Amino acid sequence: MAFDFDLFVIGGGSGGVRAARTAAATGAKVALAEESRMGGTCVIRGCVPKKLMVFASKYAHACDDAGAYGWSHKPGSFDWPTFRRKLHKELDRLESVYREMLGKSGVKIYDSRAVLDDPHTVKFANGRTVSARYILVATGGHPVRPDIPCAELGLVSNDIFLLEKLPKSILIIGGGYIACEFACILHGMGVEVTQYYRGAQILRGFDDEARGLIAEMMRDRGIDLHVGSSIVEMAPEDKRPRPHGTASDAAGAPDTNPKSDTDEDVGKPMWVKASNGTERVFDHVFFATGRRPNTSGLGLEEIGVKLGRDRQVIVDAYSQSSVPSVYAIGDVTRRVELTPVAIREAMAFTETVFKDNPTKPDHDLVPSAIFTQPELGTIGMTEEAARDDREIETYSTSFRPMQHAFAGRSERVLMKLVVCKETRRILGAHIVADDAGELIQMVGIAVKMGATKEDFDRTCAVHPTISEEIVTMASPARSG
Ligand code: NDP
Repeated sequence: MAFDFDLFVIGGGSGGVRAARTAAATGAKVALAEESRMGGTCVIRGCVPKKLMVFASKYAHACDDAGAYGWSHKPGSFDWPTFRRKLHKELDRLESVYREMLGKSGVKIYDSRAVLDDPHTVKFANGRTVSARYILVATGGHPVRPDIPCAELGLVSNDIFLLEKLPKSILIIGGGYIACEFACILHGMGVEVTQYYRGAQILRGFDDEARGLIAEMMRDRGIDLHVGSSIVEMAPEDKRPRPHGTASDAAGAPDTNPKSDTDEDVGKPMWVKASNGTERVFDHVFFATGRRPNTSGLGLEEIGVKLGRDRQVIVDAYSQSSVPSVYAIGDVTRRVELTPVAIREAMAFTETVFKDNPTKPDHDLVPSAIFTQPELGTIGMTEEAARDDREIETYSTSFRPMQHAFAGRSERVLMKLVVCKETRRILGAHIVADDAGELIQMVGIAVKMGATKEDFDRTCAVHPTISEEIVTMASPARSG
């Protein structure tokens, strides 16, 4: 059967674009549909603008430190509109680079929503259809709000980059990557940040010692972080429920379940009642309460593609779905929700399908960083997970780097290696420090190669640096 294309990619994010380009480079006839802006979450509303905001937010501290190092400077202030204008110009530039790259690779772009009509056909918003031998679903995910009245008046991460002005105060709900990164960013930009996390400690799933230090450093910097706290009610300040017996109650005003007329209420200060009973008003509430795969209304289940509990596309080790002509990569599959992983899944897909070289993407020992201030760089097992699994030794050191000590800053660094007692291999490395994201990339190579503690010990220190501590930890802090 003749198809219009060899491959049709739905979604122009990091994974989809890489798959389209690499498949086209094999001589395949490829098309890609994107309903929003080319570049997807990473480029347009995620990693890239977030990292630029991280850079912007760090200057407040850098200026303070400069004073401690003998520089005289006048106190300055951060101008969000100036930064925002430049930020969006940069995003426009990156989007056009993505389009150009696709064009040069010979990929046909459809600026439209595309859904599956049958296992070999996609349908555009205007009703037109095209056929393809293979369809790759790379539609990513979207932020979700909790199911409470007025939650639609809260912001999600997509909205932060579009704010007209920075709020004076913000309440961030959640304790994951996005919540903690934006707590630090917004605090650095001068916003009064309060954060409620429902669990006992932020950054669930990461190494306990590392998450403990990050929480402490965030509080030290002035972030009002509350653990074991959630939001139980919220409403625009002027529609907050009145206690029984007040004038408004007597007049029959509702006292529970506040509703909002969304348009009229957008941007109003929000009244919030927390699980600990406190009631406060914030300029904005920001829900960083997780993400879900973009699978709704795509026609997947209708053609037999199996979805999981979180409505993610279920795929095998080669990214093939339950319908043989349909593959899926990236966040829509909920394997490891990170851009570089989506890119690797894309390349493995092309090897498998277009180069006759079946290749499984490798999801083991993926290094990653959380861009809090200080950052957390991590690879492999946490101390807790490793100890449940086998006999380990833990090497750990926490200290005040000389740059901070000289500037009078209390901020500490953590270097930690989790070592298998039997094989001596490094099972996990965890670094809390400025630029820990940069450091873990390098450490990650050694860990991925199967380095032992003794390999680290044999490597001479680079002095004076923060990272020299990773090769000079002589005796275990804990063993067992
Ligand atoms: P996460 O899953 O990391 O965190 C979600 C947070 O929201 C958790 O703390 C969770 O609590 C909490 N939560 C969930 N539902 C509710 C609720 N109903 N009420 C209150 N709290 C709730 O999601 P993120 O949105 O932060 O990030 C999504 C993914 O994006 C990450 O997993 C990561 O893979 C990726 N990402 C990567 C970054 C990087 O590499 N630097 C940066 C940003 C995102 P609990 O822990 O109790 O479940």
